[in-house]
Amino acid sequence: MRLPPFIYLEPKTLDDALKMMDEYRGKVKIIAGGTEIVPLMKEGLAKPSYLMTTGRLMGLKNLKQEKNRIIIGASTTLREIAMSPLICSAFKGVAQAARSVAAPPVRNHATIGGNVLQNTRCLFRNQSELFREGLEPCHKSGGKTCHAVKGARRCFSAYQGDVAPILISFGARAKLERKGSTRIVPISELFTGVGKGPLSVEEDEILTKIILDLPKGKYGSFYEKLRFRSSIEYPLAAAAAFLSVGENGKISTARLVLGAAGPAPVVVKQASDILVGLWPTDREINAVSEFASKAGRIADNRSAPASYCRKMLGVLTRRTIRGALNDIETEKR
Ligand SMILES: Cc1cc2nc3c(=O)[nH]c(=O)nc-3n(C[C@H](O)[C@H](O)[C@H](O)COP(=O)(O)OP(=O)(O)OC[C@H]3O[C@@H](n4cnc5c(N)ncnc54)[C@H](O)[C@@H]3O)c2cc1C
Repeated sequence: MRLPPFIYLEPKTLDDALKMMDEYRGKVKIIAGGTEIVPLMKEGLAKPSYLMTTGRLMGLKNLKQEKNRIIIGASTTLREIAMSPLICSAFKGVAQAARSVAAPPVRNHATIGGNVLQNTRCLFRNQSELFREGLEPCHKSGGKTCHAVKGARRCFSAYQGDVAPILISFGARAKLERKGSTRIVPISELFTGVGKGPLSVEEDEILTKIILDLPKGKYGSFYEKLRFRSSIEYPLAAAAAFLSVGENGKISTARLVLGAAGPAPVVVKQASDILVGLWPTDREINAVSEFASKAGRIADNRSAPASYCRKMLGVLTRRTIRGALNDIETEKR
């Protein structure tokens, strides 16, 4: 598979990059690590006329603490995140998620920005052009059919990014810049929930930073994904949990977010309703897991049956809640 022709843009400053995004709006795509956009271009699923690298924008590359928050430049690699002592101690689940992406050679290039802003996937669409030629165009390819759910009027492609669910559980925010304006939004608002167009980032916007506030008091986090191989596999289902405890030793905040459960990360609101105000026993954990296994919109468009993945969302939920509780008990922050 060969790359289609494109013009390569290499801005040296953020200002220049924002100008280029404005000038070539709609025709330009950003390339950070390139581990998603390049395969998509090779498969004919992305056809930008211009590819603009963020590789020379030094301001997008650092990870630092500023008072009570951690600022992660969008071009920070997943390897740097997985190995950062700051992330490994204060945001353990984020390090676990970063470490679970693909394999070391990919993580050396893959960035956190590119990971969060990856497209949704479907076993019937993320294939070569030759394979797709044999199928009627699906909703996402401009057609009117869904090969995963026969008769469906919408796209069932799934968001399978590993890092966004745990970032959402920590309440992380994203800084998006375009020529002349800036906005900061919760990571959860980057997603539309629509498989055909899953991201709410404008065509001329650049994600520059991810902001994580340091949680107060005692807290724990955990991330786990279902995969058959121990590396180079997108999550077939995933769960991310963040729990904090108050001075009375009971849960004061509980956020559970599912991955690979639909076109966007899925926040399980019942986790907070059930867990806050107590130190959960198996009974409460099982109750949350019941809700989690019904929360997603999973179709048969990945390398495991939807029914199995749904069941596993419940299992992963139990494991992540227990993992976060264990983190609270063992961590001396
Ligand atoms: C073999 C293989 C296995 C993989 N396994 C996994 C996996 O297990 N889990 C997983 O989550 N992913 C997986 N991936 C996907 C990919 O590697 C990761 O999502 C990676 O983190 C993408 O980062 P990147 O910097 O390479 O993104 P790129 O490919 O450079 O970009 C991805 C998308 O984000 C946009 N983008 C990038 N940076 C910005 C920015 N600053 N502002 C605005 N838009 C931006 C790009 O335009 C593009 O649309 C895998 C990929 C491969 C090839």
